[in-house]
Amino acid sequence: MTGVTLNRVVKRYGDVQVIHGVDLDIEDGEFCVFVGPSGCGKSTLLRMVAGLEVTSAGQIRIGSRDVTKADPAERGVAMVFQTYALYPHMTVAENMGFGLKMTGHPKAEIAAKVAEAARILKLEPYLDRKPKALSGGQRQRVAIGRAIVRGPEVFLFDEPLSNLDAELRVEMRVEIARLHREIGATMIYVTHDQVEAMTLADKIVVLRAGRVEQVGAPLDLYNDPDNKFVAGFIGSPSMNFVAGKVAAAGVDCPGLGGTVTVSAHMPGVGSEVTLGLRPQHLTLVPGNSHVIEVAEALGGVSYVHVTAATGEKLIVESRETLKVRLGERVGIQFDPAHIMAFDAKTEKRLR
Ligand code: ADP
Ligand code: MG
Repeated sequence: MTGVTLNRVVKRYGDVQVIHGVDLDIEDGEFCVFVGPSGCGKSTLLRMVAGLEVTSAGQIRIGSRDVTKADPAERGVAMVFQTYALYPHMTVAENMGFGLKMTGHPKAEIAAKVAEAARILKLEPYLDRKPKALSGGQRQRVAIGRAIVRGPEVFLFDEPLSNLDAELRVEMRVEIARLHREIGATMIYVTHDQVEAMTLADKIVVLRAGRVEQVGAPLDLYNDPDNKFVAGFIGSPSMNFVAGKVAAAGVDCPGLGGTVTVSAHMPGVGSEVTLGLRPQHLTLVPGNSHVIEVAEALGGVSYVHVTAATGEKLIVESRETLKVRLGERVGIQFDPAHIMAFDAKTEKRLR
């Protein structure tokens, strides 16, 4: 059993608290992604699991062991960083085997482990090359290989693909998913990119300002967010949000063009709520409630940005070939069953 458990974990830098009591259960063999905006504490939390940051309060367990105060080397983890930090004067094979060499492992064992990592990562043709003769993606693979040869119980990745160009990032994302299937070890992966989180994770942990907003499988977070932050963060383009006021017969929502029926338990008449609708659940129709501001035609799909009379902006997804004119007045249509409602103040989901 090499799951990872965090129990009321806190991090303070001097007087400033940046992680506010995080509880988390990551199961053996799970691919867990920490996602959230820059500065929300993803790296700090990961580095606390790695033992690179002191844990101010709370407990961290790896498997059955309490590692809260253990040295990084005793934790059975290996970390892959955004910067590859390879030794330029060593070959790929030497870079991958260096950690084992330093801890005095026999040559034959190192060679076997490096060969196995090279096979998994398709690095066999490059074992004798120096890092400068490799592409960015190959260098990142060497950095991952260095982690694999150590045979850790838990792999920790901190934004490992951020330095790669978009195309390579997609390719390496697929590689990392394959690596996880092949090795089956517990992995914790940090990213600010919700698409990366959605495509890689068994379990996503959405963080905001040092707190866990929600934990769940990617599609559960997408389909059933607990609050407005998660609803807006997961999904691209983001969910549209408009202000509403609970009325006797539904919710008055000028941003959506009138009174709408919301199938959630609403607070009393007069209460302020926020309504959410994803771009793919809106359709443009003839009308004059909204004005077209921008149309992004991406080929198979278009995103049309419209503004309501309230000034609220909405994105409408269209898969048809649209002939829209900027500044033109249009109406929007939607199935009210797709509307999500949130308390305007607490931003909690109303169900
Ligand atoms: P993320 O990885 O999600 O972008 P970090 O974990 O790097 O965020 O940072 C979380 C918060 O902790 C930020 O507000 C950051 O400014 C703060 N922080 C990180 N390292 C230190 C440090 N050494 N001293 C003081 N504050 C820090
Ligand atoms: Mg970070």
